[in-house]
Amino acid sequence: MRWWELTWPEFEKVDKTVALLPTGIVEAHGPHLPLGTDALMATYIAEEAAKRANALLLPTVWYGNTYVLDKFPPGTISISNETLYMLYRDIFREVARNGIKYLVVINGHGGNTDALSMAAKDAAKETNLVIIIINWWIDLAKEARKRVLETPEGHAAEDETSEVWAAYPDLVKWIPRDGSADEWVEVRFRVYGKEAYAMEYTKAVQGYPSRASQEKGRTILEAAISEVVQLINDLRNGKLPITKVK
Ligand SMILES: [Zn+2]
Repeated sequence: MRWWELTWPEFEKVDKTVALLPTGIVEAHGPHLPLGTDALMATYIAEEAAKRANALLLPTVWYGNTYVLDKFPPGTISISNETLYMLYRDIFREVARNGIKYLVVINGHGGNTDALSMAAKDAAKETNLVIIIINWWIDLAKEARKRVLETPEGHAAEDETSEVWAAYPDLVKWIPRDGSADEWVEVRFRVYGKEAYAMEYTKAVQGYPSRASQEKGRTILEAAISEVVQLINDLRNGKLPITKVK
């Protein structure tokens, strides 16, 4: 159920146990993928899972933060971590005020993780909302990724190119089969600074999009969506994704 398509009397009656919030960014994704890739993919997974589990879907937060790919003025929009933190925190507060018990964030972009966790920690202290953050490209479909991918995961790489191609075939106009878009930089430790940024992402890629296939994308996405559906069902049964081992 799309939150924004319901009337308020309808909203009053719906099951408010679980709601899903996709988060992404508008950011350069190689010469071959749409700028909206991260928001589009988070939306795709959240929308499919919400449909299958009949859960509430919130509107996607399209804007996010990037500290290195904002060097691509053709298209990237980066908002500050401060703004992002306040935006997420306010959304979490409002979701709580609307009576939602569990909020599952399907995050599609690495640069959002700092602001997301800060906002979740603060909102969880102030309200009764339980917030679960899924960084989907890391947390979901781990087995499927291991099975189908031939090259390391990255940015606009084999994995992401396959996924966008599978989810939004009309938005992928070409696949750089000749390797012209492949780019791989080894980074040891976290390095911040203009000199480092100049060496990274010269094509807005980290990885090997030349190896993408729609089939690989479909396999990863199917696994990812069913894991989210499983989580929704578990939450409805009061089961958190936490296991007491000892
Ligand atoms: Zn991405």
